[in-house]
Amino acid sequence: MIQSHFNPFDSVAVPVLQPLPLELYRRAGVDVWMLRLDQVHPQVSGNKWYKLKYALQDLMARGERRVLTFGGAYSNHVHALAFAGQALGIETVGVIRGEPAYAANPTLSDARAWGMQLEFVDRATYRNKQDPAFEQQLHNRLGNFGVIAEGGFGPLGLMGCREMLAGVEDVAGFDLICVAAGTGGTMAGLIAARPEPSRLLGFSALKGGDFLYADIAALLQLAGEDDPGGWALQLDAHGGGYARSSPLLAAFMAAFQHSTGVALDPVYTGKMVLRFNQMVAQREIAAGSRVLLIHTGGLQGLRGMEKTLYDQGNAYRGELPL
Ligand SMILES: *Cc1c(COP(=O)(O)O)cnc(C)c1O
Repeated sequence: MIQSHFNPFDSVAVPVLQPLPLELYRRAGVDVWMLRLDQVHPQVSGNKWYKLKYALQDLMARGERRVLTFGGAYSNHVHALAFAGQALGIETVGVIRGEPAYAANPTLSDARAWGMQLEFVDRATYRNKQDPAFEQQLHNRLGNFGVIAEGGFGPLGLMGCREMLAGVEDVAGFDLICVAAGTGGTMAGLIAARPEPSRLLGFSALKGGDFLYADIAALLQLAGEDDPGGWALQLDAHGGGYARSSPLLAAFMAAFQHSTGVALDPVYTGKMVLRFNQMVAQREIAAGSRVLLIHTGGLQGLRGMEKTLYDQGNAYRGELPL
C-alpha cells in the first residue's frame, strides 16, 4: 500500500533564505545569504530531497517495488532514500562500503529501522559499483530492483536539483552561488538552471576533485543540457581528504554556529563555508558582491561525532575567519 499521506515529496520545498551577519563579511563589504535546504524535510534533508524526487517518481511510474543504491556508512543519500522508500512503500536495499559493524551507527540504524536491507561490501568490490557484471551478481542474489546511483547522481537527480533555486527571491541578484560537491550532481543541476548572471562555484569535498569537471560535463550531456559556462570548482577545500576533520574545521563550525545559529556538517557544508570565509578574508571576493551559500544538509551525519568535534575544536589555538 502506498502511504501517500507520508509522501515526503507531496509538498513543494520552500527553503528559507537567511542573511548571514558576520563581522568578516561586513568588513569586506560582501553581502552573504544562506539557502537552508537542510530544513526542507526532517529526514529527506538538503540536496538529497531534490536528487531523489524524480528518481523515485520514475521508479514508481515504472511499477518498480524495490530500489537499490550505493553509499558509505554515513551516507546522507542512503539515509534519505531509506526514509523516502518506507514512506512511499518501496523496498530499499543499500550496498554499503565497509564492514558490517557499521550497521550499528546512527545513520544505518535509522536506515534499518526504516526497513532498508543492508549489504556490506569491501572497498575493492565497492569500486565496481558501476560494473554491469557486479549489478548482475546482485540481481542473482537479491532478485529484481531498480537502481539509483551513489549520491543520486544521474539525469533525474539533475532534474530535481534544477528546481533548487526556483523559489528563491531575486536569485539573479546574486553575483556568486556556492555549493559543496561530492559527485557533482547538484552542481550540474544548478548549472542547468542557469541563474544568470550569477557565477557558480562548487567546493569539492574530495581530494583530487578534478574528476568533477568531466563528470559534470558528462551528466549535463546525458541530460541533454548544454554547458552555458560561468562555473568553476574550488579543489582545495577538502581539508586533507573526504570526511577528514581537523581542529581548524571543528573550531570553525562551532564558532560559525555560535555567531549565526546555523549548524554545518563536517563533510560538505563546513568545509565549503570555511574555505569561502578564507577567500573573503583574503579579499578574493570583490567588495559589493552579493553571495548565496547553499546549505545542502547532512546534519544527520553529525550524530555520534559531537564529542570528537568538540575535543578537536577545543584544541585549536589559531585564528578563525569569522
Ligand atoms: C550529498 C551531499 C553533497 C554532495 O552533493 P553532490 O550532488 O553529490 O555533489 C553536498 N552536501 C551534502 C550535505 C550532501 O549530503
